[in-house]
Amino acid sequence: MIKRIAVLTSGGDAPGMNACIRAVVRTSIYKNLAVVGVIGGYEGLINNEMREMNGSSVGNIIQKGGTILKTARSEHFKTAEGLKSAYDNLKANNIDALVVIGGDGSFRGAEALGKTFNFPVVGIPGTIDNDLYGTDFTIGYDTAINTVVEAVDNIRDTASSHNRLFFVEVMGRDAGLIALRSGIACGAEAILIPETETHFDHLIAQLERGWLRQKTGHIIIVAEGDDAGGAFEVARKVRAKFDKIETKVCVLGHIQRGGNPSCMDRVLATRLGYEAVFALLDGKTQVMIGQVCGKVTYAELIKAAKHNVDFNKKILEMAEIMAL
Ligand code: ADP
Repeated sequence: MIKRIAVLTSGGDAPGMNACIRAVVRTSIYKNLAVVGVIGGYEGLINNEMREMNGSSVGNIIQKGGTILKTARSEHFKTAEGLKSAYDNLKANNIDALVVIGGDGSFRGAEALGKTFNFPVVGIPGTIDNDLYGTDFTIGYDTAINTVVEAVDNIRDTASSHNRLFFVEVMGRDAGLIALRSGIACGAEAILIPETETHFDHLIAQLERGWLRQKTGHIIIVAEGDDAGGAFEVARKVRAKFDKIETKVCVLGHIQRGGNPSCMDRVLATRLGYEAVFALLDGKTQVMIGQVCGKVTYAELIKAAKHNVDFNKKILEMAEIMAL
C-alpha cells in the first residue's frame, strides 16, 4: 500500500516543473499521503538528499521557472551500484513510490529503477523539446516557443530595418519541434530541423526568390541539431553562394529554458501532477502520464522515451508556402 511518495525533477529544467511539483505535493496531502522532495534529481536520490514537503513548501511557486527541487544529470545513476544506492535510500526513507518529472533520459532511469527493484514509479513529461511519445505537449514547450517568438520578433525589426538575413539558432539537438512551431509563428523564410535533410540549393533558391520580390529582411530558424551543423555553419555555407544580403547569426541559447511558465504550461503541469498521484494509487507503474486530445493518457515509460514522435511533413511544407 502506498503511504509515502517521493518526487524529483531530472535532466534539463523546464518552465512549469514547479507547478507540477506543487500539484504532486498538494494532491498527495489531499489523499493523506506523506510526500518527500528529492533535491537534485537522481544524484540527490543516491546522496540521500530529501526533504519533507507540506502544503506551504510549494507556496508561491506556480509562476516560477526552473525547479525548487533542483535538477541534475547523474552518470552514477546509470551504473548498477548507483541504481542500488538510490533504491536503498528510497527504502530507508520508507518511500513506497516515486514521481519523476523529466525528459527521455529521466524516463530511462525511472524505467531501470522500476524494473530492477519492482518499485512503483511514474513519469511526467517535463522538457522544453516536446519530443516524447504519448503526450501532445510536454511541460515547458509552450513557454519556450513563446520565448523564441518574442526574441525573433525583436530580431525581425532589425532584420527588416537593415535588410539583413538572420540565422537564428534555437534549441533542439534531436528534435526540431521548437524550431518548427516558433518558425511558423514568426513567419520564418526557412526552418531547418534534424528530422529533414538540409538542401542548400533549395535554400539559396528560396532566398533568391525573396530577394527578387524585394523582401525586407529574412529570418532562417535553425535547430541546433540540424544536419548542416548549427546556425554558424549554415550561415557560412549560404554566404559562399549568396552574398546579396548582409547576414548575421544569433544563437538564442539558454534564455529558452527559463522564464515564468505560460498559462498553458501551468495548467498542463497541474493536471499531470494531480493525475500522477491518482495513477500511483490506482496501481499504475512504469508509465508516463500524458495528455492527448485533452484526455489524460498513460504510455509505457520506455515507449515515451524513444523519441518516436510522428513528424508531420505537411506542416513544414505549409511553412514554406507561407514564405513564398
Ligand atoms: P532528460 O531527462 O532531460 O532527457 P538526460 O538525458 O540528461 O535528461 O537524463 C537525465 C538523467 O537520467 C541522466 O543524468 C541519468 O542519471 C538518467 N538516465 C538517463 N539514461 C539512463 C539509463 N539508460 N539508465 C539509467 N539512468 C539513465
